[in-house]
Amino acid sequence: MRIPENKIEEVRNAANIVDVISEYVSLRKRGKNYLGLCPFHNEKTPSFTVSSEKQIFHCFGCHAGGNVFKFLMDYKKISYVEAIQELADEFGITIEYDEKYVEIQSEQEILYDINTVAAKYFSNNLLSASEGETARKYFAERKLKQQSLRSFGLGYSYSARDSFVKYAKENKLDLDKCIHLGLIGRYDDGNYYDKFSSRIIFPIFSPNGRVVAFAGRIFDDRENWAKYLNSPESSIYHKGKILYGLSHAKDEIRRQNKAILVEGYMDLISLHQSGIKNVVAVSGTALTEDQIQLLSRYTKNVILLFDADNAGIKASMRSIELLLKQEMEVRVISLPKGEDPDSFVNNFGKEKFEELVKSAKNFLEYQTAFYESQGLLEDPMRLTEVIKELVKTLALINDELKRNLLLKSIAKKFNIRENLLEDELEKIINVTNKTAEQKNNVVNEKNAEEKRVRESKKEKVQGENLAIERDLIKLLFEGDKKILGFIASYVTPESLSDETNKEICRKALDEYFAKKDISAAALTEIFPEEEIQDYIYEITFDKYSTSRRWAERNLMDDGKSNLPKQAEDIVKNFLLIKIDERIKDNLQRLAEADNEELVKGLMKIIDELTQSKKEIANIKF
Ligand SMILES: [Zn+2]
Repeated sequence: MRIPENKIEEVRNAANIVDVISEYVSLRKRGKNYLGLCPFHNEKTPSFTVSSEKQIFHCFGCHAGGNVFKFLMDYKKISYVEAIQELADEFGITIEYDEKYVEIQSEQEILYDINTVAAKYFSNNLLSASEGETARKYFAERKLKQQSLRSFGLGYSYSARDSFVKYAKENKLDLDKCIHLGLIGRYDDGNYYDKFSSRIIFPIFSPNGRVVAFAGRIFDDRENWAKYLNSPESSIYHKGKILYGLSHAKDEIRRQNKAILVEGYMDLISLHQSGIKNVVAVSGTALTEDQIQLLSRYTKNVILLFDADNAGIKASMRSIELLLKQEMEVRVISLPKGEDPDSFVNNFGKEKFEELVKSAKNFLEYQTAFYESQGLLEDPMRLTEVIKELVKTLALINDELKRNLLLKSIAKKFNIRENLLEDELEKIINVTNKTAEQKNNVVNEKNAEEKRVRESKKEKVQGENLAIERDLIKLLFEGDKKILGFIASYVTPESLSDETNKEICRKALDEYFAKKDISAAALTEIFPEEEIQDYIYEITFDKYSTSRRWAERNLMDDGKSNLPKQAEDIVKNFLLIKIDERIKDNLQRLAEADNEELVKGLMKIIDELTQSKKEIANIKF
């Protein structure tokens, strides 16, 4: 069942985003846009921006963004269809649902759908099948409530090694795709088997709440079985780029502007069930840089809550370094011996847990306490090493002021003269810089010089290139059909050099050919990936300096906007830069050419390219 496209368009056109958002957020006009305090995170100075012209919003603080439907979905926690329905009611538009609508799905959509079907299957096994009893018992012993089982989509996979295979066949799922997703495997004799049999199942969600993978855990003592089995990487699942529980936690993380990072699925679900909802878990990997980057879009403040065992402490130490490198604020919670987050919150409750969060130590205190517990601070020789280790961690912090304040705290704690520590810090920073330098330098100074010249040129071209590509992307979101048509007839998406730009351009032009509605507000919906959405909003809301002349070009003498002229300029410039690149490449090859045939051929190509520059100059909108 679907709402027909033209109805969605009708509702979107009827509901002015500024009016709709004004019902919930107080907005004031600033230049072309409206500005207010963001309802999705805590802030004192407004960074929540609404464009009446493009009918989209974006927060520069927490990166929330979207069209009028997305606002209602996020604000009221309702679905896409509910958001459309609500606005339709408000504006007196009647919606007939189109039941015959068959969607042409992309490859990725098919994979998401298979995972959704599988997740429902596992969940039903757990919640209502008789064979699910043992798994239900397991969760009951772990004190998980029915509500939590549902909200995290937990499931159970039967012990028969072909029950999902049968289910997949009955439901006409593409078995090769099921293999790609790691749900089933194939024996040498060609028969299929279940990968997750006899395990409890944790679906793993994308930040948008779609099932991208599964983790299956054994729940009794079975010898020779791996405790956890995870889906393999697939085109919708990149292990190091997913944080377990983020889709459940992101609103609360934004609201509190801090995230608690735990190790296990059960830890996270138990905390969530006790009302502590700003929690994410590193799932099946050690913390990665990509995961930190993902989290940093919601908050810069991280509280580590790992197990109190050796492995947990080691993971904390390593995570602290990674987080500091990416300029996050890190605090660490130490649990009493023998407790993990799951057991602690079950034994002591939410209030005690919140006290624990309040008492979280900064990372230096945590590290010091750890060394102290090892007895390292009593032995003067080891103490020197400890202090050097601490200063080494400080060197990871880029912010000089922060670094100095922390240095003072170490000096105070160990009663050492500050300038001694400063010298030590400086030494470490110099060594780090030098190693980096050495890596970059080539042995031969002459080569190094040539390389520098070459790279500075390359950087410059890349800079120009990127700026003009961003201009092109910005044009796509001007909501002007003629401009899209103009771009489509001269620019092929493949000719863009930046991968993200390429992807956006390709999808936007596909959409242009497929549909009639190409308003910015409609276009944003075809990019579900949050990273790409962020990028688009930042471009459309002028955060990036697109090429310098955007503003100048956009105005005629009388101050009126002149988009067509601007589009013409941008497309021409883009094509010219591309041609110049090719001419340059060929000139380079010409200089190195060692036979007459090749020289002739290259000269002909260069000649033709130069000729086509003249043609480009004549392009008219
Ligand atoms: Zn915000």
